[in-house]
This record gives sequence, C-alpha cells and structure tokens, in this order.
Amino acid sequence: MTRAVASADVAVVGCGIAGLATAERLARDGLTVVMADPAGIAGGATGASGGLVRALDLAGRYGDRAAESLDVYLRRGPGGQWPAVREDGSLTLFGAGDLRAAHEAGGRLRAAGHAVELLTAADVAARFPALSPAGVLGGVLEPRAGWLPAREVAAALVRDAGSRLVVLRARATRLLTRAGRVTGVATSAGDVTAGAVLLAAGAGSVPLAAQVGVDLPLCTRSVGYCLFAPDDTVALTGLPTVVDATTGAWLRRWDDGVLLAGVASKETDVPARVAQHVTDAERDRVHDVVRRLCPALGRARFTGGVTAYDAMFTDGPGAVAAWPGAPGLVTAVGWNGGGFKLAPAVGAEAAALLKEAMA
Ligand SMILES: Cc1cc2nc3c(=O)[nH]c(=O)nc-3n(C[C@H](O)[C@H](O)[C@H](O)COP(=O)(O)OP(=O)(O)OC[C@H]3O[C@@H](n4cnc5c(N)ncnc54)[C@H](O)[C@@H]3O)c2cc1C
Repeated sequence: MTRAVASADVAVVGCGIAGLATAERLARDGLTVVMADPAGIAGGATGASGGLVRALDLAGRYGDRAAESLDVYLRRGPGGQWPAVREDGSLTLFGAGDLRAAHEAGGRLRAAGHAVELLTAADVAARFPALSPAGVLGGVLEPRAGWLPAREVAAALVRDAGSRLVVLRARATRLLTRAGRVTGVATSAGDVTAGAVLLAAGAGSVPLAAQVGVDLPLCTRSVGYCLFAPDDTVALTGLPTVVDATTGAWLRRWDDGVLLAGVASKETDVPARVAQHVTDAERDRVHDVVRRLCPALGRARFTGGVTAYDAMFTDGPGAVAAWPGAPGLVTAVGWNGGGFKLAPAVGAEAAALLKEAMA
C-alpha cells in the first residue's frame, strides 16, 4: 500500500528491477526501505522487459553477475516464491570473432556447475530446425535458462520485502544533504530521510546525482520488441530463447503460436516512455532481421509490440557504485537492455554498499 513516510534506513529512487532487488535484499537483512517512483512498481524499462535470463555473458562485461542471478532465479528467490523460470533453454549464437570468448565463457560456467553445451552451426540447424543460422559460427546452449515474466517477478520482490518496504508513488526531486552527507531525498509526496540513498532511476538518476557533484554519463537507448504469429506454429516447437550476437536479434516464445522478437537498436536519447505499439519502420527493421534467423517468421502476421528504452552509460557498462565525494549515496544504473538477468546480483551488491554507506 502506498503511504507517506518520513524516514527509513535506506531510501531508493526508482522501482525498477535494480531498485526492487536491492530493497528486497535490505528488507531480508532487517533494514527498512522507502522507495519512490511516480510510475509505481516496474513502470519503466522493467515492465517492458522481455525477461530473458541466462548465465552466459559473452561480452564479459558483468563478471559472474548473470550466472549468480540465474541461480537465484532458478531457486525462485530466497523464499522459493518467485515465478518459475520458463526453462525453454537459451541459445546464444556467435560469429567467428566470438569463438574464443564463447569457449572461455562456456568453460567458466561449466566449472561453476552450470549446464552449457557448445554447438557448431550444423548442430544448431539439426537441433533447432526452426532456425537458419546462416553467418553464424556456433552457439552456446544453456538448457536451464529461458525467460521470466518481469512484472510478476517485480511483484514477488515487493511481497518478499514485506512490511519493511514502503512504496511511494512519487517523483524524487532533490537529494537531501547535511554536513556533506546525503541524508535522504525530497519527493513530490514529502521528504524521506534515510541513512543512505540508492539512485536506481535509470537516466532519471542523472540530475539528482549532479546535485551532489556526481557525474553519471548516461543516456537512453531505444529497446523494444514486436510480436509475430507465424502460419506454421509447429515449426516453433522446442524453440529456445535465442540471442544472436552477430545481428543483435533476440526472440522468445510469447504465448500460443506467437513469438516476441527484437533487434538491438542504435537509437539513443529517446524519451523515457513505454508505449504499447511500434512504428511500421521498426516493425519492418525487426522483421527483416528475424525472418532470416527464423524463416517461419517470413510470412508471419504482426500482432503488436512495445516501444521502450533503457539507460546506458556512454562510456562503459552498467555499474553499482558508492561515491566517496558524496557519502551516503550509492548508484545502480546503466544496464543497457540487459539488466533484468543481472538484477539479483546487482541488488546484493548495492545492498552491501548501502550498508557500508549508512551513517
Ligand atoms: C523492451 C525491453 C526488453 C528487454 N528485455 C530484456 C531481457 O530479455 N533480459 C534482460 O536481462 N533485460 C532486458 N531488458 C533490459 C531490462 O529490462 C533493464 O535493463 C532493467 O529493467 C532496468 O532496470 P532498472 O531498475 O535499472 O530501470 P527501470 O526499470 O527503468 O526503473 C527505473 C525507474 O526509475 C523511475 N524514475 C526515473 N526518474 C525518477 C525520479 N526522479 N524519481 C523517482 N523515480 C524515477 C522510472 O519511473 C523507472 O520506473 C529489456 C528492456 C526493454 C525495454
């Protein structure tokens, strides 16, 4: 229930998956948390997310965070109450330039106990006849990965946090400071004082951080997907979630006979808005790429889609950070289209930094 509060151990700005995973972790450790977001729970990128989860981090940007997070998701969270991972399997396709990275990352995951198979392009074609992996050297198959309904996971995190968490449907307008420390946040519903503050508001974190001299070089990037209903639904039987590192295409089953498919976009500085439609140009851009990967989509009916965004750093990957020049402040931002699969590990890391940062 939403109600106004004056103080908590930690204030969190942004009710996306990064903020929620942190809040759940803090609440589990006995701390009180107030979260503020004018869009409510999962009203930003999180609510639009395709929810693909896998342990593999082919580009090696995020250490073990994806693997650790998949373990948490497979356990259905600390209390076993989160939605179950749809274990359709995850297939990451790669080109010649990524062969070494795929071997190394696959080997590390196997050593850590994750089920991983390295496939040639011929293996991929034989195992998954719906796919036409032209231009692909091979694939990494994770049979225990897949996808999750992102909004339901967000709701489960709130439930797990229980009465130690209060959510304000309010915009954070200013960081409160005293004697050089960040001591809370002013919101459209009133001031929240706290021992430490987490900014997990995507690009909305930038002006707040700037007030205490913290520069977050973030922009927004367009992330969206289309829904396609192919004539031949039988062809899709057994299709795993697919991420094609050579084209930026990704897809998963949506519901009966419908596929959700997106292709990474280079469009940046887009509005931080979620819309339940896509333009004709975006539909055509996505269709053109994914019909080559999955020929059954060639004559598929377009049934809708989502146009949304995520925050990305202009100079590197997303990060969780404490700021010595602004004691009491922690940031967890910049996940650039891949933050859902990292969230449990990001939340654990941010919670640890916030405890250290508390006065
Ligand atoms: C279409 C789409 C598909 C995706 N698919 C996948 C996927 O398959 N797998 C995967 O791992 N990742 C995926 N992602 C990426 C993933 O969803 C994001 O990286 C992740 O949800 C980001 O979480 P967040 O908490 O950082 O940000 P958000 O979910 O955007 O949350 C930030 C919140 O901050 C709030 N806010 C902003 N300013 C303020 C303010 N001043 N005061 C209070 N609140 C404020 C916003 O309203 C927002 O709710 C996808 C993203 C999109 C858009």
